[in-house]
Amino acid sequence: MPLAEPTETRRAAEPMPAPGRTKKFGTAATRAAIPAVTGSLFAGRRKIQPQAVRGTFRRIKWALLAVALGVYYLVPFLRWDRGPGGPFQAVLLDLDRGRFYAFSIELWPQDVTYVMGLLILAALILFLMNAVAGRIWCGYLCPQTVWTDLFLAVERLIEGDRRARLRLDAAPWSVETIALRGMKHAIWLMIAWWTGGAWVLYFADAPTLVGELATFQAPPAAYTAILILTATTYGLAGHMREQVCTFMCPWPRIQAALTDEHALNILYRDDRGEPRTPAKKAAARRAAGEPAGDCVDCFACVTACPAGIDIRDGLQMDCIQCGLCVDACDAVMTRLDRPTGLIGYDTEANRRSRAVGGGPVSRIVRPRTVLYAVLVAGVGGFMLYSLLTRSFTALSVLHDRNPQFVTLSDGSVRNGFTLRIVNKRPAERRFALALAGLPEARVDVVGGVPDALPVPADATQEFRVLVFMPPDARAANAPLTFRITDPETGEAAGAQDYFKAP
Ligand code: SF4
Ligand code: SF4
Repeated sequence: MPLAEPTETRRAAEPMPAPGRTKKFGTAATRAAIPAVTGSLFAGRRKIQPQAVRGTFRRIKWALLAVALGVYYLVPFLRWDRGPGGPFQAVLLDLDRGRFYAFSIELWPQDVTYVMGLLILAALILFLMNAVAGRIWCGYLCPQTVWTDLFLAVERLIEGDRRARLRLDAAPWSVETIALRGMKHAIWLMIAWWTGGAWVLYFADAPTLVGELATFQAPPAAYTAILILTATTYGLAGHMREQVCTFMCPWPRIQAALTDEHALNILYRDDRGEPRTPAKKAAARRAAGEPAGDCVDCFACVTACPAGIDIRDGLQMDCIQCGLCVDACDAVMTRLDRPTGLIGYDTEANRRSRAVGGGPVSRIVRPRTVLYAVLVAGVGGFMLYSLLTRSFTALSVLHDRNPQFVTLSDGSVRNGFTLRIVNKRPAERRFALALAGLPEARVDVVGGVPDALPVPADATQEFRVLVFMPPDARAANAPLTFRITDPETGEAAGAQDYFKAP
C-alpha cells in the first residue's frame, strides 16, 4: 500500500468554524501562503497545536497511558522475597553482580540468549500487530506517544486548548505569557526528572536509592543517568513530539514494507465523504438528487491530529494510527446527525471493494498473520520451556597452558585444570566431582576433596584440579569429561577437555 511521503506539501491545520458558519479552507491563496517542505529534514516545520477531542479512542488512550505510566513508575517498588542475601526487589538489573531479576526469574550473563530471544519475540509481536492493525503500537503504547500525550495534557491544562495556545504563540512576550510558559516548562521538567529518576530505580534497591538521591548520597552515575534522561524526555516529548515519529524512528519505514492491503488502518471513507459539501448545502443537494458527501470539510480531524496531517489525503507515513481523528469526526457526524465512522479502522482491500460496489473484505487470517502467530507461539513457547527447564548449575574447564603436562619421577603424567562451577541457587551447595573417559585416571582437588566441592549461594567458584595418569597408560590427547553432581538435588553438569601427554 503506497504511503505518502512526509515531506509533501501539507494543508495547514486550521481552526474549526464557529457553529452555524461554514468557513472555506484550503483555498488557492491559503495554500500559496504555506511554504512547501522540500528536501531538508529541518526546513519548514510547523508547530502543531492539536485540539482536544473526546471519544472512544481518546478514552482508550487515557486508560493505556495510566497503565503504562503506572507500570513504569511503580514496578521498581514491588518487593519479592528471594531469601537471605537475595535482593528484595521484584524487577532489578544488578550491574555490580551481573544479574537480572524479574520476579522468580534470575538471569546471569551466561543467559544472554534469553535477552536475545526476548528481543526477537518483541519484534515478532510487533510484526504481528502491524499485520493485523497497522501501527497500533505507535498510536497507543510507544513511550514517545505516551509521554507526548502526557506533556500535551499538561500544556492544555496550563495554556488552554488549541485556540488559546495559538493565540499565546502569536502574542508578544508579557508577564502572563512568561508565567504560563514558565509553569508549563517547570512541570514538563519535573515529569522528565521523574522519568529519569524512575529509570535508575531499576538498577538498585528502589527505596534505598530514593533516600540516597534525596540526601545527595547516591552514586554519581545515578545523577548522570537522571540528567541525561531528563533532557531526552523533555526534548523528545515536550519539543520534538511528532518529529521523532516521522523523522527519527525507523519503524514507519520498516512497517510500510511489512504491511499489506488487508491490514487494518485508520482510513477516511472517501466513497462516503466525497464530494465534500458544507453541511447547509449538503441537504439541499441531496434533496435535488445531486451528490453530496458526508465530509463537511470542517478540518476537525486535521486539528485533532497530533501529527498535523490530513487523513483524507490517504494513508501516510506520518500517521501514528492514534484514532483521535476518528473521535473528532465522529463528534462532527453526531452533531450533524449523520452516521459515524466516516474515518475509522478499515483496510485498503475494503476500500477498493467498495469502490467497485463489492461487499466487505475481511482477511485477518492470512499467510503473513498465521506465519507471525506461529513464530510468536514457537519462539515464546521455546523460551518458556527453556526457562522452566534451565539448569541452576554450570561447569566450565580450562586446561593449564604452560606446562601442558608434567612427567613425574615415577613416569606418571599430570595435567592441571581450572574448574569453574556456577551455583545459581540461593543456598550453598557441595558438588561431587567425577571423571569420565579415562578409567585409569585419578583426580585430586588442590586444597579440597573431589567428593564435596563447596560453592556459595548464587556464586561462581574456581577449583584447581590435577589429573594423574599411570606410567603405562597411553593417554596423549585423550578426551576426558569432568562431571559434577549435587547429591541433594541430583542436578549435574559436565565439561569436556583433553589429557595431554608426551
Ligand atoms: S491521522 Fe488520525 S490516526 Fe493518524 S496520527 Fe492523525 S489523528 Fe492519529
Ligand atoms: S472527515 Fe470528518 S472531521 Fe474531517 S473534515 Fe470531514 S467531516 Fe470534518
